[in-house]
Amino acid sequence: MPDHFILRREHFHELLEALKARGYQVIGPTVREGAIVYEELSSINDLPIGWADEQDGGSYRLKPRNDQALFGYVVGPHSWKRFFHPPAVRLWQVSRDGKGFQFEEQEPANRKMAFIGVRACELHAIAIQDKVFLGGSFVDSNYRMRREGTFMIAVNCGQAGKTCFCASMNAGPKATSGFDLALTEILDGGDHYFVVEVGTMLGGEILQKLPHELASVTQMEKAKNIHAATAKQMGRSMDTAGIKDLLYGNYENSRWEDVASRCLTCGNCTMVCPTCFCTTVEDVGDLKGEHAERWQKWDSCFTTDFSYIHGGSVRASPKARYRQWMTHKLATWIDQFGSSGCVGCGRCITWCPVAIDITQEVRAIRETDIRTKEYAEKNNGNT
Ligand code: SF4
Ligand code: SF4
Repeated sequence: MPDHFILRREHFHELLEALKARGYQVIGPTVREGAIVYEELSSINDLPIGWADEQDGGSYRLKPRNDQALFGYVVGPHSWKRFFHPPAVRLWQVSRDGKGFQFEEQEPANRKMAFIGVRACELHAIAIQDKVFLGGSFVDSNYRMRREGTFMIAVNCGQAGKTCFCASMNAGPKATSGFDLALTEILDGGDHYFVVEVGTMLGGEILQKLPHELASVTQMEKAKNIHAATAKQMGRSMDTAGIKDLLYGNYENSRWEDVASRCLTCGNCTMVCPTCFCTTVEDVGDLKGEHAERWQKWDSCFTTDFSYIHGGSVRASPKARYRQWMTHKLATWIDQFGSSGCVGCGRCITWCPVAIDITQEVRAIRETDIRTKEYAEKNNGNT
């Protein structure tokens, strides 16, 4: 039985209605403060209809498209991690009650979420965070409660941005797993429709509620051509061959000093990265000493506090912090979790205020690999 169908644009609102009727809170892309962010959608009019995003190192702009595409952008500063692993979570609170203390553990709100517009690279990032939070001997119960039962609607990218490199990370641009439904948006003259791939039984059940038809061979071909064209459009690429050994063998490469002279250690790259997961814990008390709360908040390995142990920070210099971030993402992550920590979404390049580019940094290290004969000869020549 074929598993590709057509959902016409005029029926698209029924998808949201079907999800809401099943009790889902529908979350998807919308325009806010000049960027495309992920928020609760009340109707499809909240989608970024007719908007595209123009991105490059350190730059992001929305610009109108010359059509009414619902998903005609790439990715914005938000990633879906904010819903499973929120930026700030109250873990517990405690109050005096006259006789002693009353502790109250915080339970995550019991809401079923449906995500619409998840990109292929983002599905890969979610799979990576699943491994981090759920895959080891310690399971993060807060993450699990938020994550369980989420309905995923992937939307394959119809164009790539200048900072995208998911194709070279084998993480896109077409969604291959982790979705209930995957859509490819097609605007063909006056014809506007979605080619729908069903990923799960539940996805099939939802589709059954909507007016749909079987996709023709021509329509499936059009979708395939869009995926192929998007893969070719990627503005960046990363050569990952032997990357773990490359980075392990180049802790002393002078490129780290070069990048550190540009890096502001602002931590933006870690905040926008869909796989970064580090947190800190803060305790807050009221002035009367009656009430206290413990909060878990996103943290960044670019702060000196992050690696503070007795006597000082282990990574006191920007060089040490940038080197640790990139080496963790691309090398030690492989030993820790069995995959790269980077899915090639390009956010860390777009949202870096000084346009530091992780693909360029890897290339520079490759070109100056201190394990090579060229390096040895150059070094001997200099002594
Ligand atoms: S690489 Fe860019 S975004 Fe990341 S900490 Fe340095 S300046 Fe900030
Ligand atoms: S390291 Fe950069 S490109 Fe890779 S997943 Fe994180 S934000 Fe995206």
